[in-house]
Amino acid sequence: MQKRILIRDCTLLTDAAAPLRSHHFVTIEGPLVSSLGPMANCPDPEDFCVLEGQEKLVMPGLINGHNHAAMTLFRGFADDLSLHSWLHEHIFPAEAAHVKPEMVYWSAKLAAAEMISSGTTCVADGYFYSNHAARAFSDAGLRAVVGHGIVDFSVPSVPDPTKNIETVAQFIDQWLGQDQLICPAVFAHSPYTCSPATLVRAKQLADDKGVRFFIHLAESPNEQQQIIDPQSSSPTGHLAALGLLDSNCTCIHTVWLHNGDISTLADHRVGIVTCPQSNAKLGSGIAPVAELIDKGAIIGLGTDGCASNNSLDLFREMDMLAKLQKLYHKEATALSARQVIDCATASGARAIGLESVGSILPGRRADLLLIDMHQPHLVPFYNQDTLVYGASGSDVDSVIVEGRLIMHEKKILTFDLDEVIDRVRNLAKRVVTAT
Ligand SMILES: [Zn+2]
Repeated sequence: MQKRILIRDCTLLTDAAAPLRSHHFVTIEGPLVSSLGPMANCPDPEDFCVLEGQEKLVMPGLINGHNHAAMTLFRGFADDLSLHSWLHEHIFPAEAAHVKPEMVYWSAKLAAAEMISSGTTCVADGYFYSNHAARAFSDAGLRAVVGHGIVDFSVPSVPDPTKNIETVAQFIDQWLGQDQLICPAVFAHSPYTCSPATLVRAKQLADDKGVRFFIHLAESPNEQQQIIDPQSSSPTGHLAALGLLDSNCTCIHTVWLHNGDISTLADHRVGIVTCPQSNAKLGSGIAPVAELIDKGAIIGLGTDGCASNNSLDLFREMDMLAKLQKLYHKEATALSARQVIDCATASGARAIGLESVGSILPGRRADLLLIDMHQPHLVPFYNQDTLVYGASGSDVDSVIVEGRLIMHEKKILTFDLDEVIDRVRNLAKRVVTAT
């Protein structure tokens, strides 16, 4: 039986806006946070697995709202290219050649290792052979919303695109309610790779099965010209006209929004995941995150796949999000560090359809991390803004997901990292890079 966990005498951040609380304890029983408070009320440690929290900050686990985890194999494979050239001339052909069940499992597991090591406790993923990605996340002990990709052309896992909805339905049936950590989902790639009929069927499937619907939206300025049979003058209007935008929909990127699109997304209670580093690296633009938040939109933060970032460290992503919004608006108050932490925790969870993670409170899922504060770049530590502007993923010491310690003192406990690195290095020998 899983032993209860007691974190003693830590500095505690329960959510993005809360004050830091020093000399506190947290207890975890089963998958849930069971209690917290000042050390004066700390329970007897005898029946607990004790983690000493001196010089440690305990905070909610980070939520990576958008990833294509298996693309770790393509890290550094085709850099410094525009989105269209990168995708159509390099990534799609490479995927056709290399995406196989074994590749997805080991590359997703490498991504899991990188994410866990840098404080991510939950990821929303979208790719092909998603059964193998889901297995990799489950084996790693990482919480995941795993979307199976849908496009209107042949891909290795679905050679006949007329079978794409059927394939995803089978994937959902295989995982739904089977694993506390894994939520299957539908991931329609985009309005330029899916016809209106496919988009409508994909959304209907998600709603019928009670799973989340994800889609890339308005990533680049010329997306409108690429959309198959557009129903409206903007990509967002196109999805609205098809009836796709509602509280069971997550749109990724939303960089290029036309008049009224911001209100449309906010009013329909759509979850939005912004990926500032991927958008910056591909030269796509800067999403109007501050305006979306002002309109009440629900915002999450994602890295996107490794090939367009090339890191899965959400601390880097938080720093970039805050600074790009300030730069975009030429205004230092455009987006605060605490708003950014919210995007990477509680708001980020809501943006991908999860309600029970993203903060540390009794009764919530016990997904949290311990940060080593005994480091030059984290001294002094007046408040949580330092997490955005000073910390990095390498400061993460220990990680707990669903009440289970999966990394302790920087060592991953759930699988053999050396084996994963060897496997992916071997897979990479078959990949010919663009350089
Ligand atoms: Zn993406």
